[in-house]
Amino acid sequence: MAQRIGDNLTDVKLKNRSLVLRLVKKRTLLSRIELARTTGLTQPTITNIANELISSRMLYEVGTSDTKAGRKPILLSFNERAFYTIAIAFTRRGFSIALTDLGPNILYRRDSSYSILDNTDSALLELQKEFIHVLEYATQSLRLILGIGICSPGPVDPETCTILAHPTFLSHRSLDLRSPLSEYDLPIFLMNDADAACLHETWNGAGKEVRNLVYFMVGEGVGAGVVIDGKLYGGRKRRAGEIGHTCVNTFGPRCVCGNRGCLEMYCGLLVLLERAREEAWFGKSSFLQNVLAKEEDIRFSHLVQGAENNDPACMDLLGNLGQYMGTGLVNLVNLYAPDMVVIGGEAVLAQPFLEVSLRRSLEERLFFRDYAQPVLRYSQGGKDAVLLGAASIVLDRFIAGELGRF
Ligand SMILES: [Zn+2]
Repeated sequence: MAQRIGDNLTDVKLKNRSLVLRLVKKRTLLSRIELARTTGLTQPTITNIANELISSRMLYEVGTSDTKAGRKPILLSFNERAFYTIAIAFTRRGFSIALTDLGPNILYRRDSSYSILDNTDSALLELQKEFIHVLEYATQSLRLILGIGICSPGPVDPETCTILAHPTFLSHRSLDLRSPLSEYDLPIFLMNDADAACLHETWNGAGKEVRNLVYFMVGEGVGAGVVIDGKLYGGRKRRAGEIGHTCVNTFGPRCVCGNRGCLEMYCGLLVLLERAREEAWFGKSSFLQNVLAKEEDIRFSHLVQGAENNDPACMDLLGNLGQYMGTGLVNLVNLYAPDMVVIGGEAVLAQPFLEVSLRRSLEERLFFRDYAQPVLRYSQGGKDAVLLGAASIVLDRFIAGELGRF
């Protein structure tokens, strides 16, 4: 059947409600007059939509705004507790599962160290077990759960809800997440972790009001989420944004993806920590040697602590990280010309040590650098950015009107 491109009257109604919800959610408080002005819809239309959304508990009225004269307009706010989501975030070391509201705020969470890398079958059983714990917690509000948002590192197929096979992932197996979760009759959405964290940034972070955004995520893996003209760009099979597997050294070592000298091999934190261990073993850093004597392993936060204590090896490692991240950043800005770049992932912990390298890269290496400078920000999502990203997938579909709730 041909895709319908026209709008029927019911579609127009849905679009307008979606627009009003989107604006109130992003701007926090808005009067009906401001809504009419911003959307270009007539005041009676806005009044109708607002009344419908208030009666279905998606918006509520609060206080008054300050105007100089006349009757003070009542402000509208988005009801974060109108519905809930279940968010699942896979990392390379385990997964977290949470009940969230539409803030999204995490209301209840379970963290598991079962890694789908190590043992897919036990991890899936563990996921089902933890999922039931979350449902039990949500017992009073079960009918208000909109859906399950899942994100994972590596390539995913959102249509079949499958984490795809990857050489370092799942022992060459692809993982269908729909089967273990299908019995709960909730819509399931899967996204790559960088895309999901990027989406969260557009709802709750620095990227709220930006039309063109790049979220550059540097953690154990390196990836990017790209928003073009207000929409998350997916490309064919949602594979866009794999900046970590762009080549920065044609003659470099072979990467797991098949390419050579991939960016991830130079600024992925797994590689960086491997180098930090070598520095400790070869006696080049007393700070890191001390860490290894006391702790099981060196973590990225140790490198940041070392740099704060002026340990030369840690400062060198972070300096190197900043330079390679700068290279990736310039490549992203040259490709997508974003208004803003948000740096995310665990690397954000080292912000004071990266800032100079990143700015210098933009000032010295960017094409058309006097005109093309984007705003540079750092994600405030902390370690929960990806889990909140998973919840944001459901929030995003809900506000787009795709979940049939308004
Ligand atoms: Zn690669």
